Amino acid sequence: MQIILMGPPGAGKGTQAEKLTQSLAVPHISTGDMFRKALKEETELGKKAKSFMDQGKLVPDEVTIGIVKERLAEPDCNKGFLLDGFPRTVPQADALKKILVELDMGLDAVINITVLREILIERLTGRRVCKACGATYHVIFNPSKDDGSCEKCGGELYQRNDDKFETVGNRLDVYEDQTAPLINYYRAQGLLLEVDGTQSMEKVLTDILMVLGRE
Ligand SMILES: [Zn+2]
Repeated sequence: MQIILMGPPGAGKGTQAEKLTQSLAVPHISTGDMFRKALKEETELGKKAKSFMDQGKLVPDEVTIGIVKERLAEPDCNKGFLLDGFPRTVPQADALKKILVELDMGLDAVINITVLREILIERLTGRRVCKACGATYHVIFNPSKDDGSCEKCGGELYQRNDDKFETVGNRLDVYEDQTAPLINYYRAQGLLLEVDGTQSMEKVLTDILMVLGRE
């Protein structure tokens, strides 16, 4: 199975990626992991990426694409892969297409976990963190038994800036602007499979495996 997993912040993509790599027995290839590996092994591209990161700059597409290619060329990807966090844009998707041809690989499906914006906002803005011990709660899904304070240590709970309504709205806007063309791109190629991410984690996983023909 050669697949791409997509989904907005708050859709539970990380959890599904973890479960899917186990169910499908393919490596989970996330952009973050790829960068860490390239940096650790000090590949040419890893060094190049590091020079941009050290300057606090975004790593340019050509470097990211090179790192993805290095990773996909590794032997464990012979049995397939689950790409997570890449591609993010249509030019990256075009580049991926080329890489896959060069490596004599293909793409079976692009899974998009969909969740309504209002629900994503509810999920993402409800997080509360303990100032003292860092424990995390959710006002709806995992509230502290001690009301406004941490049930583990009694510390004060607060909302991180990242989780505030406005920031969450901006993150979702950026995601939608960036990925809407990508979703259309893969839909036009008949590769897009959509799964309702508002269901329980278990049901989302079952649905993904079902649309992949694995259940
Ligand atoms: Zn605490």
